Amino acid sequence: MPEKVIIIGSGPAAWTAAIYAARAELKPLVFEGAITEENRLAGTLPLGQLALTTEVENFPGFPSGNLEEYLDTAMEKSRRMLMPPHGKHGVSGPELMELMRQQAVNFGTRIITEDIVDVDFDSHPFRLFASDEKTYEALAVIVATGARANYLGLESEQRFKNRGVSACAVCDGALPRFRNKPLVVVGGGDSAVEEADYLTKFAGLVYMVHRRDQLRASRIMVKRAMDNPKIEILWNRVLDEVLGNDKDGVTGVRLKSTGQESDLDVEASGVFLAIGHTPNTAFLKDKLKLSAKKYIVLTAAARTYTSVEGVFAAGDVADDYYRQAVTAAGTGCMAALDAERWLAARGL
Ligand code: NAP
Repeated sequence: MPEKVIIIGSGPAAWTAAIYAARAELKPLVFEGAITEENRLAGTLPLGQLALTTEVENFPGFPSGNLEEYLDTAMEKSRRMLMPPHGKHGVSGPELMELMRQQAVNFGTRIITEDIVDVDFDSHPFRLFASDEKTYEALAVIVATGARANYLGLESEQRFKNRGVSACAVCDGALPRFRNKPLVVVGGGDSAVEEADYLTKFAGLVYMVHRRDQLRASRIMVKRAMDNPKIEILWNRVLDEVLGNDKDGVTGVRLKSTGQESDLDVEASGVFLAIGHTPNTAFLKDKLKLSAKKYIVLTAAARTYTSVEGVFAAGDVADDYYRQAVTAAGTGCMAALDAERWLAARGL
């Protein structure tokens, strides 16, 4: 018997889709991803990008406060052990993901901790090939595999992730460790300017480090960077090493020149990478219509339809613009409703 709906992914879009699909009695099966070293290095472990962040202060419903007591009663004890304590803030990224996962489980979602490595959408029921070498069949599929922030791949960058190195200013910028300190943003696109500009609310000074002598960002964003007295652009330089220690985390960066400028060490308490994102769609090549940047193309406005009928997409895998936990959760809900209606219309 094919599954009614298989959901691929384990971020806010996937769990929200699972919660809605389970409550619609579609008995969703979620492939949350495999726990492998390869996935760890790629930033694609189960629970997605939020699992790599610290406090989440902008997800509605989690104001600052102490959640310990609530978590102790809301979560299975064994999973609770996996979560680092969140301190005084409303909720941490890993906690939010564990809570969403638990909520999906509470309504009957089944979970397989494997990757989907290939799909056959040419015939129906659809066939999905998992990393456990088994084949699964589904009448409808929701793809919510997310995206991963690009990092440079430096060993020092990896070492200080969550201790000063981040790829999300909106998620982490307001943390106390960054307040009134110099910060570094790497990149020269709209995201880099947006992050730098945002960080100037908290930071003493923001250095934008760009590898060329011209920003890629749009004119209005270039103007924003130039007009902000707290942004200083360090042209023709690349990040060579994140400097720091175990006690303080990041303390600075070593920059290498790509032109005539000198190499430079700069003091900073944080490094924000803004060098683009990569959607997790490698397994969908030639199976679904993808954009030039490899995001899933949605085929109808305000719907989660893809180029294959019965296959829906939600969250960052189809969104290179908003990329927020709450927008991902919203589209996860939409995908479950779209799938439910699509199945019902066909009597499936
Ligand atoms: P992006 O436009 O692709 O820019 C990436 C930047 O990172 C580029 O400046 C690039 O340098 C640099 N970079 C890439 N790889 C690098 C490496 N290995 N080492 C050093 N630098 C590297 O990405 P984005 O800024 O995330 O923007 C993505 C899309 O979202 C764009 O279409 C953008 O317009 C849109 N967006 C819009 C807004 C807004 O309008 N408010 C805000 C955010 C994003 P080069 O320039 O040398 O290639």
